[in-house]
Amino acid sequence: MLVVNAILIGVTMKAILIALLFFSTFACKPETKVAKATENAKPANAKTSETIEGEHNPPIEKSEVKEGHWYCDMGTVHYSRAEKGDGKCPLCKMILHEKKTQK
Ligand SMILES: [Zn+2]
Repeated sequence: MLVVNAILIGVTMKAILIALLFFSTFACKPETKVAKATENAKPANAKTSETIEGEHNPPIEKSEVKEGHWYCDMGTVHYSRAEKGDGKCPLCKMILHEKKTQK
């Protein structure tokens, strides 16, 4: 009986060790997922400053609007585009103004 008990204890210890390894591996995974999520968020933030046409978020200054473009004047500019189109801002329905070409 003593030999059987010794084998059983040995098996139980191995099972506990495997279980611990298993759990520690799983416990690490959420951290790597969070790290990946923040990496993915960076390119989206960098994109807004390069946006010349369409919606500006955050809004840009009137001086930053390209010449000849149509823009929504709200003090700052939250929308601009190259074409007049229907002449209205799709975001707030205000009339678009043309940025006059300076000579
Ligand atoms: Zn607008």
